[in-house]
Amino acid sequence: YGKLMIVATPIGNLGDITLRGLEALRTADIIAAEDTRRTLKLLSHYEIKNKLISFHEYSREARFEEIIKLLMEGKTVALVSDAGTPVISDPGYELVRRCISQGIGVETLPGACAAVAAVTLSGMDCARFLFWGFLSAKGPARRKELEEIRKKEMPCILYESPNRIVKTLDDICEVFGEETAVCICRELTKLHEECLRMNAVQAKEILEQREAVKGEFVLLIGKAEKEEKELTEEQILRELKKRMKEG
Ligand code: SAM
Repeated sequence: YGKLMIVATPIGNLGDITLRGLEALRTADIIAAEDTRRTLKLLSHYEIKNKLISFHEYSREARFEEIIKLLMEGKTVALVSDAGTPVISDPGYELVRRCISQGIGVETLPGACAAVAAVTLSGMDCARFLFWGFLSAKGPARRKELEEIRKKEMPCILYESPNRIVKTLDDICEVFGEETAVCICRELTKLHEECLRMNAVQAKEILEQREAVKGEFVLLIGKAEKEEKELTEEQILRELKKRMKEG
């Protein structure tokens, strides 16, 4: 059998690719890409000429079959996504799973990932964090997901589209409170990189005032504070007794 190499590619700055990543793109028998146009830009920047096949949303299933066949014939396939690390909120895990179940070797070549880049810029204590990816598109489901995130009591990373970011901040204000700290990273590693570290309502107002909200966004929600639970009478008495004993 051949081997599937999962290759991380830049999320904006073409310099953000590893030496191993470039070598893999040069030497693979074939590159399987989500969007061949974007991958071609990367390849031509590094003067790499190699065979490319695409696995668009509509042809994915058939393409995956094809790729498995190539791997079984002994070919080396480099898997790249639109940007960043394949599989992270990107198609590809299905292919990785199939390779594993067929006994085909899988190798990972780590590199850029928008979520991790945003964590490093945020200044938030992310010793523990939650990665949520994209919220559901529909209102009630989104609110429910945000409630669930709040209960985890740790910083959370979301991917968000430019046309929903203001709405999401609005929902965060309602579910977490307006004072909740957020960090909004726009166009990471690109010319117009921006990082807004403030509370949710301020961030919402800033974006709302813009003529157009454009670009790619990662949104971090700061750790939610523990909810003040209502104490029962019995708990209050116990607490009072304890305090009296402690003097
Ligand atoms: N696999 C990618 C990774 O490793 O980051 C993520 C793929 S996901 C389909 C695309 C989303 O990632 C975008 O909608 C945006 O939320 C985020 N993203 C990707 N590149 C970004 C960038 N340069 N700046 C900010 N967000 C980015």
